[in-house]
Amino acid sequence: MLVIQEHVPLAPLTTFGIGGAARYFAEVHTDEELSEALAWVHKNNQGSVILAGGSNVLVMDSGYEGLVIRIASNVHSFAGNELAADAGCNLLSLIRAASEKGLGGWESLAGIPGTLGGAVRGNAGAFGSEIKDFAHTIRALNADTGEVREFNNAECAFSYRHSFFKHHPEWIITHAFLQLEKIDPMDAKKKIDDTIAEREKRHLQNVMAAGSFFMNPIVPEHVVAQFETEKNVKSREHRVPAGWLIEKSGMKGATVGGAMASMQHPNYIVNTGNATADDVRKLAMDIKVAVHQQFGVTLTEEAAIF
Ligand SMILES: Cc1cc2nc3c(=O)[nH]c(=O)nc-3n(C[C@H](O)[C@H](O)[C@H](O)COP(=O)(O)OP(=O)(O)OC[C@H]3O[C@@H](n4cnc5c(N)ncnc54)[C@H](O)[C@@H]3O)c2cc1C
Repeated sequence: MLVIQEHVPLAPLTTFGIGGAARYFAEVHTDEELSEALAWVHKNNQGSVILAGGSNVLVMDSGYEGLVIRIASNVHSFAGNELAADAGCNLLSLIRAASEKGLGGWESLAGIPGTLGGAVRGNAGAFGSEIKDFAHTIRALNADTGEVREFNNAECAFSYRHSFFKHHPEWIITHAFLQLEKIDPMDAKKKIDDTIAEREKRHLQNVMAAGSFFMNPIVPEHVVAQFETEKNVKSREHRVPAGWLIEKSGMKGATVGGAMASMQHPNYIVNTGNATADDVRKLAMDIKVAVHQQFGVTLTEEAAIF
């Protein structure tokens, strides 16, 4: 049964560890509880927002005035090469569970924090793979109308850190169906371990941050050329890493209060211990201004802010 709590601190539920409390808060484990939560929102004329693993959000210091619905559904099953999983399943746990069944192909996504639903919404990716390469059908519930619909891969309109769901927050992802490949369980385990080791080496793990704060932007030809010459790597889709632009703009290591543009990975804004959401937003603005002055490029936030 659904329990609505009041004044629940949100900072501990995010990897940033920042932000105020939810005026109302409910954890939903099933489709029925999600529907109940939405009915409560309509009946009480409140706003609502979805929180899952909390690894790509910045919660304001003032908290959230309406109902925060935390997706905590956690059931998955395998049939042949197919994985059917609730949106709230932890991505790494699913990758590990699949590997034990001899199913995989998606090991390079290992170590991306958060849930399957969060990964689908932002088309999470790493080391050349994205969740779109594996998710063939997404089931979602429309918070306004109560309609439940299945979206095929094309209808999800996946692209770099983007999906249909990102711009249609009324659709809440409830389940995802993925096609995996047969793989030797020992090979899969090694690939998972190697990926996580590589992420640790690159300081991509276990930091108080929301991952990459900005998306890698599409930039003018001369900026692509500068990046390719300097780094000796090909840009994809005319995008260059936001971290490189930030470093070139002199903002690596920049701070506002307790927020810092990471020295190891300048596109991570990290909470060095006592950062407020205000610190993060001010630093993000300073970074945007510096990058715009240097390159004429506008950075866009990847992290959701509420
Ligand atoms: C240390 C670190 C490393 C990271 N590395 C990577 C990386 O390599 N690649 C990458 O792509 N990302 C990376 N991220 C970002 C983050 O892990 C991903 O964006 C992740 O997929 C977010 O999932 P989540 O469950 O935590 O979503 P949350 O942070 O809880 O939510 C993010 C957004 O998605 C929405 N949302 C969540 N669940 C649903 C749902 N079921 N239906 C509809 N909307 C939903 C929320 O409302 C919010 O707007 C990293 C983050 C951290 C902290």
